[in-house]
Amino acid sequence: MSSYKETHKRSILEREGFWAAEAKRIHWHKPFTRVLDYSRPPFAKWFVGGETNLCHNAVDRHLKERGDQKALVWISTEVEKTETYTYKQLHAEVNRVAAMMQSLGLERGDRVIIYMPNMPEAVFAILACARLGAIHSVVFGGFAAASLAARIDDAKPKLMITADGGSRMGKVIPYKPLVDESIRLAEHPPAKVLIFNRGLDLNMPLVSGRDVDWKDLYSKTAKEPVSCVWLESSEPSYILYTSGTTGKPKGVQRDVGGHAVAMAASMPHIYCAGAGETIFTTSDIGWAVGHSYIIYAPLIAGMTTILYEGVPMRPDAGVWWKIVQDHKVNVMFSAPTAIRVLKKFDPAFLKQYDLASLKHLFLAGEPLDEPTHAWIAEGLGKPVIDHYWQTETGWPVLSAMHGIEKTAIKYGSPSFPVYGYDLKLLRESDASEAGADEKAVVAIEPPLPPGSMSTIWGDDERFVKTYFSTFSKKMVYSTFDWGIRDKDGYYFILGRTDDVINVAGHRLGTREIEEAVNMHPNIAECAVVGVADQLKGQLPLAFAVLKDVAKKTTSQEVMDTVDKQLGAIGRPKAVHFVTLLPKTRSGKTLRRSIAALAEGRDPGDLTTIEDPGALQQIKDCLGVK
Ligand code: AMP
Repeated sequence: MSSYKETHKRSILEREGFWAAEAKRIHWHKPFTRVLDYSRPPFAKWFVGGETNLCHNAVDRHLKERGDQKALVWISTEVEKTETYTYKQLHAEVNRVAAMMQSLGLERGDRVIIYMPNMPEAVFAILACARLGAIHSVVFGGFAAASLAARIDDAKPKLMITADGGSRMGKVIPYKPLVDESIRLAEHPPAKVLIFNRGLDLNMPLVSGRDVDWKDLYSKTAKEPVSCVWLESSEPSYILYTSGTTGKPKGVQRDVGGHAVAMAASMPHIYCAGAGETIFTTSDIGWAVGHSYIIYAPLIAGMTTILYEGVPMRPDAGVWWKIVQDHKVNVMFSAPTAIRVLKKFDPAFLKQYDLASLKHLFLAGEPLDEPTHAWIAEGLGKPVIDHYWQTETGWPVLSAMHGIEKTAIKYGSPSFPVYGYDLKLLRESDASEAGADEKAVVAIEPPLPPGSMSTIWGDDERFVKTYFSTFSKKMVYSTFDWGIRDKDGYYFILGRTDDVINVAGHRLGTREIEEAVNMHPNIAECAVVGVADQLKGQLPLAFAVLKDVAKKTTSQEVMDTVDKQLGAIGRPKAVHFVTLLPKTRSGKTLRRSIAALAEGRDPGDLTTIEDPGALQQIKDCLGVK
């Protein structure tokens, strides 16, 4: 076993040799002629000239050796159902759905927006897109109609796929009316909408000429296999929208070959897992974690993947550990928020089931505080690995790599830079490298490794401007996170450098929430900040200035506006009304000072404030002296 340090060094110094070896983990229909084309920095093209297909690698390739092995197990504690698909059955379903899509006119390069809860048909649809070379864009079910419409207008899909509804804590959440509303709002609506009726929302009228009933089309579609479309390695495989500092979400574009290789390599090196083993990732298919570690990586590796629809404490707080026992789960992947939810329940739940099969629990998506890390690791008696990544990277940037070397875990730290990432901690002032224990910006020296975003969908310029322009002296990728490295080389993430907040592991731009608040007819302007929350990591808090103070406006009305515009995940925990916002003389809202006051911290340097009275109003709202 080589050391992680050696492996990391080799991956940077002998970049092409390193990745050429990793590329052997997947099937290439046509071999690549060059490992990397970096002639147009910062755009990196991996495995140039190679042809492959993600669906072939995730499904077809396994048929001979493991056709009867379970590929997908869907467990829904919401609708009390479990369904199991072997690789052969998954192949049959994906082919049928691909044929259905073809019958709706879908071709290579067309976009498909998938707005579905965690259900097997969503996985079939995603893999069917990959099979046909269509570009999927899965939108998390928590987003409201206006957010969905913005994504429709950016992706311009030919087809949308949805279900009648989802379910949370036993309560039905209708999807179809929301899809109808988003299409009404969109300028580039899809020609067809394919709808899987789960029987949850009984009142679901279909729009004639546009809406197609999944089950009806399924029964009319032949069972004949549909050939995989071989794609050049750098062609887009999918778009996944993520929040930034502007109101307009960014479409993170992923390639085909680099993505497949990165997924395949991460399983043995980071997750210590391989063919025949079982993984349970508790995420939603609408997030990057769901894409990578519910679907692509486990299936490419020939594993059994568990797709879960439900919450961690229903029917009781032992439900996940029962799944581990019953399905002999080897690897589990979840988020710190979920563990903080479980922490409120009796720790005896962690010991109630036989967890002998479980090797590791991985956590990511937000900072994992030391007490929570210790609580879960000690409660389970298993190694719990915190690892750090972003939608943009698609796989871990910082992690222990126990498949390479069993390094010790430090609570609160996502360990070390992962192979392929030339990670730097750079001083904000001059882009010079920070020393041990010095807080600095976490940056990546390009080229980004295989599987990381290739660009922003339809906007190369924005890709460069957003991610590679933080430092005037150096073209490096900024993660927009603060970090620190201790003297032993362990990294710690200290929060965002920008106005992005993390609510229960979900990234939201404060600008995005402000734009939603501003949609209320009586709001002139507002400031939204993230404040620390014990359970969810952070929660948005809004301060709003009314247009007409004589007109009665309640915080509930403002929250409802956010629910409608953005979705409940963006709902502020409170809305305070003020007559003016604290701003600098140049007109910038002092969000950092507001957030500091709300968290009981020192508001910092206020010499540039336009009107100190504005800050006093914030203090009065918060009851701070
Ligand atoms: P997203 O792209 O929505 O997954 O959000 C990525 C952001 O989540 C990162 O830029 C970090 O701010 C945060 N994040 C993800 N994983 C971790 C982690 N292990 N520790 C601390 N922050 C994390």
